[in-house]
Amino acid sequence: MPKIKKLLVANRGEITLRIMRTAREMGIQTVAVYSEADRLSPHVKFADEAVCLGPPPSSESYLLGDKIIEVCKNLGVDAIHPGYGFLSENADFARKVTEAGIIFVGPSPEAIEVMGSKLAAKQAVAKYDIPLVPGTEEAISDISAAKIKAAEIGYPILIKASAGGGGKGMRIVESSDEFEEQMQRAVSEAQSAFGDGAVFIEKFITSPRHIEIQVLGDQQGNIVYLFERECSIQRRHQKVIEEAPSAVVSEDMRKAMGEAAVGVAKACNYYGAGTVEFIVDENLNFYFLEMNTRLQVEHPVTEMITGKDLVREQILIAEGNKLSFSQEDLQINGHSIEVRVYAEDPSNNFLPDIGKLITYQRPQGPGIRVDDGFEEGMDIPIYYDPMIAKLITHGENRGAAIDRMIRAIDEYQITGIQTTLDFCKFALTHEAFTSGNFDTKFVERYFTPELLKPSISSEEEELLAALAIEFLLSQKGKSSSTASTSTPVTNSSWRNRLK
Ligand code: ADP
Ligand code: ADP
Ligand code: MG
Repeated sequence: MPKIKKLLVANRGEITLRIMRTAREMGIQTVAVYSEADRLSPHVKFADEAVCLGPPPSSESYLLGDKIIEVCKNLGVDAIHPGYGFLSENADFARKVTEAGIIFVGPSPEAIEVMGSKLAAKQAVAKYDIPLVPGTEEAISDISAAKIKAAEIGYPILIKASAGGGGKGMRIVESSDEFEEQMQRAVSEAQSAFGDGAVFIEKFITSPRHIEIQVLGDQQGNIVYLFERECSIQRRHQKVIEEAPSAVVSEDMRKAMGEAAVGVAKACNYYGAGTVEFIVDENLNFYFLEMNTRLQVEHPVTEMITGKDLVREQILIAEGNKLSFSQEDLQINGHSIEVRVYAEDPSNNFLPDIGKLITYQRPQGPGIRVDDGFEEGMDIPIYYDPMIAKLITHGENRGAAIDRMIRAIDEYQITGIQTTLDFCKFALTHEAFTSGNFDTKFVERYFTPELLKPSISSEEEELLAALAIEFLLSQKGKSSSTASTSTPVTNSSWRNRLK
């Protein structure tokens, strides 16, 4: 069995650092690649060796598959981990890596290909009795036939690009009058954004929850599920808060979803770590959405509740080892929550807010994990995903994990840019979240930027009153009418809060 001795991580930032940490624990040498914008990044400093790929844009650096394979040959690298995003779901790249005699830490190119197309994926799972959202099973070629089908399904419906991803390529159609027009737009958008105009329709689930199952499979055909993650708090169809387990999934539902996910994985002879995404309606019926054939951004919450290191498992599987545990060996321990700390301004439609991390101090203490790839003083580059960090907490139960997260958010000191931290605190303390009664509409239903205006605590009120009295007294004692020019408020944390 090949033992991996040197691993190149074809990615950047937090996920690269996270993967390299596990590699180091396993005695594996690490190689970083980087763009000119990331020269001083922690992932580059951490690696045993590092090679610059080119200028900042991904198309001239992190997406240069052939160049990355060249680096592997020059440095005697025997395996590549692609992380998430970039080349991670590129079947051609996985194939080229394998053909070059390098281990691809991920599934087979065939599995990536099938699951990369939402339509091919639905067709592949058809014989496994997996519940699918009612809709068309093939790409739409005949618009009038599709319109009849849409009427059968019932409006609203969703037109989806088969090659879509990252929350893009979806259009809601409210009624039959807009069907043709929306259809034409969807096809041309899919063609220009993904180079593939294939679209299909799905019933639009109006109050859905997004719940996904983590799977792990070895090359011998054993597949297990590592329970669910709930990712319903989203903005722009993209996740911001995730947790495991879900507040609404019962033992029976967990088993049914887990077994369905294993069926999806079997349908494409899956090996490695993968995620099967489901949409859940208000009656807790679940439907298969798609499979992500890579490590997921939110994988840490699963690690916290199962005690398994998913990257270690990925590496062991890539080497050809059998899974060292079975379904019965796995159990859920406590509760874990992740918030994604994005350089975004929640009071301005979550638009990216790029700049310098003037202050950057991480929270610490029991049950807290921070996966990040920045240091104080660094700039957040405009070229990539604006995620600064993932803040993860673990607690005995859901309430404890939430309390711990609120404490951690309060401890996190970031100045210089706006972040999603305050928004996440708002969400975590909202009754809908704490009660577990929420869906993917949380942001549009409950959030307005005014809610983030700083509220004054009683301690701060007392401080203000004391300062006011002091100021008045100082005025009283003055014989002339010129007011004092000294600034009464000097406490820096107080000033920060007034910003
Ligand atoms: P996850 O699916 O792991 O929860 P995201 O949906 O945020 O996380 O996607 C992970 C990363 O992959 C993000 O950086 C996102 O921008 C990127 N991504 C996902 N799908 C695509 C796609 N089809 N094309 C380009 N980037 C994508
Ligand atoms: P992507 O490849 O962009 O991640 P998904 O199919 O996973 O696409 O869908 C992303 C998100 O869009 C889901 O998490 C959910 O919020 C929403 N969504 C997808 N399909 C439906 C549907 N049929 N009805 C309602 N919402 C949907
Ligand atoms: Mg998805």
